[in-house]
Amino acid sequence: MKVGVRMLLPHHCTLCPRACGADRAAGQSGFCGADDRLLVARAALHHWEEPCLSGAPEDARGSGTVFFSGCTLRCCYCQNSPISQQGVGKAITPERLAGIFLRLQQDGARNLNLVTATQYLPQVRQALESARAAGLTLPVVYNTGGYETLAAVKALDGYVDIWLTDFKYASPELAERYSAARNYPAVAEAALRQMLRQTGAPVYDAEGFLQRGVIVRHLALPGCVQDSRTVLQTLARIRRETGVPFLSSLMSQFTPFYKAAEYGLGRRITTYEYRKVVDEAVRLGLTDGYMQEKSSAREEYTPPFDLEGV
Ligand code: SF4
Repeated sequence: MKVGVRMLLPHHCTLCPRACGADRAAGQSGFCGADDRLLVARAALHHWEEPCLSGAPEDARGSGTVFFSGCTLRCCYCQNSPISQQGVGKAITPERLAGIFLRLQQDGARNLNLVTATQYLPQVRQALESARAAGLTLPVVYNTGGYETLAAVKALDGYVDIWLTDFKYASPELAERYSAARNYPAVAEAALRQMLRQTGAPVYDAEGFLQRGVIVRHLALPGCVQDSRTVLQTLARIRRETGVPFLSSLMSQFTPFYKAAEYGLGRRITTYEYRKVVDEAVRLGLTDGYMQEKSSAREEYTPPFDLEGV
C-alpha cells in the first residue's frame, strides 16, 4: 500500500519550473518521477560538503544529509542517477521524515541538509514544522540544482536558513542538451536573486559554521570553459546588482557518470581548462568561498544509496 499524503499534494503540479501538471494528488508521476509518495534514499551524516557546512573530512559530526528520490532536472552526467532518475528510495510519511531530522540532530549533525527536495515541497514543509515543534534547532540547508520557481523559494522562507544552490549553465543550449531545461539560466538567476533577498549576507557561528546565507556552486564541465566564464560573470553581476554577498564554490570534480559519454562529456576536465575557469573567478573577485583542487575528481563524493537511515 502506498504511504500517501494526498491532501498536501497538487492536482496540477507546478512545484517546479517544468509545471508538468501531473495530478500528484491522484498518484500520477511527474517529469521528476515523483507521485503521491514521499521517497527518501539516504539519511546520514555526510562529510563532503563545503567545510563551512560539514567541517573537515575527519570531523565526526558532518552535515545531516537527507537524499530525496526523483529530480526536476535530467542531467546526463548525474552522479546520483540511481535516486534522481531510476527511482531508488523508500516511501515514508512526513512524520517519519520529521523523526529522521531529529535523529540526525541527535547524532550531532551540524545542520540539516535537504538534497533535491522540491518535488516533495509540501511534505518537507510539514516535516520541518513537526520537527521544529519537537525540538529541531539545526540550521536547514536546501541543496538544490538551482532550478526553482520564485513561488517555491518564497514558500521556503522561514523554513530554510542556507541555500546551497547550483548555477550550472549560462547557455540555454547547454542547459537543454545536458539537463533538458532550456530555461535553466533565466530560472536559476531569478531564483538566486530571491534566495539572496530572503537570507541576506552569510552568518557564521563561533566555530565558523554557516548559519545563514547562500552558497552558489558551479561544476566546471569538460569542453565548456566559455560557458563557465559566462556563469561566473553572471554571478559577479548578481552580486553587484543585489549588493548581497554570497559564497561561491567552484568545483572541478566532474566525473563522466551515468550517460555523460553519450552526450560528449566522456572525460574529466583538464587542468588547463580548470585553470582558465579559476582565473576568471579570480579576475571577477569571486574569491569569497571555495575553489576545489583539481585533484579532487574522485568518486568518493557519491555516497552509497542503500536506504541507510531511512
Ligand atoms: S515537481 Fe515534478 S510533478 Fe511537479 S511540476 Fe515539477 S516535474 Fe512536474
